[in-house]
Amino acid sequence: MELGIVETSSTLMTDFLQKCGGYAVVDGGFATELERHGADLNDPLWSAKCLFSSPHLVRKLLFSTAFLSCWSMTEYSCLIRQVHLDYLHAGASIIITASYQVFLIFIIQLYYTSLSEEEAELLLRRSVEIACEAREIYFDKCTEGSSDYIESGNISRRPVLVAASIGSYGAYLADGSDGKYGDAVTLKTLKDFHRRRLQILAKSGADLIAFETIPNKLEAKAYAELLEEEETNIPAWFSFNSKDGINVVSGDSILECASIADSCKRAVAVGINCTPPRFIHGLVLSIQKATSKPIVIYPNSGETYNAGLKQWTKSSGVVVDEDFVSYIGKWREAGASLFGGCCRTTPNTIRAISRVLSKCP
Ligand SMILES: [Zn+2]
Repeated sequence: MELGIVETSSTLMTDFLQKCGGYAVVDGGFATELERHGADLNDPLWSAKCLFSSPHLVRKLLFSTAFLSCWSMTEYSCLIRQVHLDYLHAGASIIITASYQVFLIFIIQLYYTSLSEEEAELLLRRSVEIACEAREIYFDKCTEGSSDYIESGNISRRPVLVAASIGSYGAYLADGSDGKYGDAVTLKTLKDFHRRRLQILAKSGADLIAFETIPNKLEAKAYAELLEEEETNIPAWFSFNSKDGINVVSGDSILECASIADSCKRAVAVGINCTPPRFIHGLVLSIQKATSKPIVIYPNSGETYNAGLKQWTKSSGVVVDEDFVSYIGKWREAGASLFGGCCRTTPNTIRAISRVLSKCP
């Protein structure tokens, strides 16, 4: 049985890419889109994907008692589902759940006792359900007669995968340590921290796990070991974070990090996210030296988050959507096959990526 699961896992991404024509589009940033649809981004959960929220904000959130019922019931669910739908309509074939944000609930649950473990786990599962609901709605719309989806009289719809996001321990630390966790944080610390979340998300109905914004090789190793120990029934991708285009954010070698993912049987793609576009090409070339697994890249807009000002600021590396997509051909030539966007990218970015890729030979 075990062998069967691993075999199915290992071919999920290659089979998917084959069905998609050799490359696939991943979705884009979440926070900006939620804001556009009316979410209040002062709530730290929404901005958590890139902004490591501070403990006092978490405490503030604790007293926002309306939060849990909103999230699990109606308003926020609708907003999140709408953002997933926007990305599907923009051409994304992989949508990533909002569970990166939800994991902050676990911090609250751990340090304050106002939420039960069951309630916290419910929120995680709900993040996957919402993405799956969006996929169903999208498929229903596609089959409602749009000629775009009818080929030779048959309904042709591209496959869509739901990836359950797991964020790093660094986001929990919220201390700007850039993945330098120190000697006190061991492999065991990291495995203990991530185990329950992985168990829940692996059985949530998602197609794969997206380990995102991994800052160091210790955390990559923890994920690889957890996947094996838990005999996880769905595969995962390992996506690292870099600030200099040479190493991952902690200073560990991207080659070593990618090698850890490469030797993990349940890893089906390796890549980079939340990193400025100008660094991606070199990183893809490095990753290619360590693995023949598909390479996933979803850079941010190139803007920098200023924690002091609590806002995104433009830097010399900022690219508009047209410029962002001008990199795509180069990234594809270098060996990447899954393309999307992270913080501050929008459905317009994803639409532009889809358009460029559809013209690639
Ligand atoms: Zn990001």
